Amino acid sequence: MATHYDAAIIGGGIIGLSTAYHLAKKNVKVALFESGKVGKKASQAAAGMLGAHAELEKPGVFFDFARASQSRYPTLAEEVKEISGIDMNLKTGGILKLAYSKEDIESGNQMNRLDSVVWKSKEEALAMEPSISESILGASFIEDDIQVEPTKVCKAFAKSARLLGADIYEYTPITAIDTDSAAITIKSQNETFSADQLIVASGVWSGHFFQQLGLEKKLYPVKGECLSVWNEDIALERTLYHEHCYIVPRKNGRLVIGATMKPGDWDEEPTLGGIGAVMKKAASMLPAVTRMKIDTFWAGLRPETEDSTPYIGKHPNDNRILFAAGHYRNGILLAPATGSMISDLVLGKKVNQEWEDAFAIKDKERQVI
Ligand SMILES: Cc1cc2nc3c(=O)[nH]c(=O)nc-3n(C[C@H](O)[C@H](O)[C@H](O)COP(=O)(O)OP(=O)(O)OC[C@H]3O[C@@H](n4cnc5c(N)ncnc54)[C@H](O)[C@@H]3O)c2cc1C
Repeated sequence: MATHYDAAIIGGGIIGLSTAYHLAKKNVKVALFESGKVGKKASQAAAGMLGAHAELEKPGVFFDFARASQSRYPTLAEEVKEISGIDMNLKTGGILKLAYSKEDIESGNQMNRLDSVVWKSKEEALAMEPSISESILGASFIEDDIQVEPTKVCKAFAKSARLLGADIYEYTPITAIDTDSAAITIKSQNETFSADQLIVASGVWSGHFFQQLGLEKKLYPVKGECLSVWNEDIALERTLYHEHCYIVPRKNGRLVIGATMKPGDWDEEPTLGGIGAVMKKAASMLPAVTRMKIDTFWAGLRPETEDSTPYIGKHPNDNRILFAAGHYRNGILLAPATGSMISDLVLGKKVNQEWEDAFAIKDKERQVI
């Protein structure tokens, strides 16, 4: 007979793992199925910025959700370290969003008006980070946009979820779902499982399941290429950010430099052209990077939706099926709030109505938030 679970999750990236952790913590009998090893794919490629301000263009419901998720990290990091012994390497310091032109300043105006953002003149910014390029006009300083190490976060969620009772099946790609009976049947190549509720959290590959489950929603890859370098000679405390490119100083002395944006590209290998482009951009922010030694480089596929807003919620026609996919550039940032919201929905608890509406899987277009 098929092993039965209260809830089953397809996909072991940061979104599926956070969901597994939150469900296991509530004593839900949960299984997670992953095609390969957990925490690889997009989640391993991420820089780890929790850039609620730096990444989202304006205040609103999506920003509030991102801030709620960001603010959960410090407590969550302690909580999972206590359970798993794994440190998420949360690093404070914040982000300096550099402005090189009047347009840069104007485009950041809505965010710059928030109390959590402080405008720094060129002199003030250079006093904070003396190695940054002298060609800036100034910078927005966002202390709350801290960072974590995504691979560590995934490992910490996975180990904690397991220790709390979750079953995590690696190298178990799900090939078919059958929703005709009361319990949902989930099939891999060699085994069959059943569950009362099913959560699709398969990153950019979730589109396949939307279709299988009768929904027209599509997900698109936006390939990102990054590299890391060894920084032995300059002090850099804060992440530098400009036009979706960034230099993130890690606790272990490396700088993570990213990332290209290649919509529609399903190829997961980094190219010389892509790495060259991010290196050039990094040198325009921090000239000293050209002297630094290369550590490694990589690529990943950001799961993008039609309106750049994730799908977090129930199937419109089947309450037993939930989606947590399409977190695009911000899955690391949004993982705690997503996992917690899905766990509440599975348990039939009330969730923030504005968030439920904003991320709903609707047949018609969603309002821009
Ligand atoms: C270069 C780059 C930099 C980034 N930087 C940041 C950042 O600084 N901050 C931030 O917040 N976000 C960042 N992101 C975005 C973030 O990485 C993603 O939003 C996030 O990782 C998405 O997580 P996920 O779990 O949805 O997808 P994934 O991590 O891709 O996981 C999906 C999983 O589902 C599995 N799967 C697919 N099909 C099946 C199946 N049939 N059966 C079983 N398993 C299946 C896959 O193997 C995969 O492991 C970055 C992304 C990239 C590419």
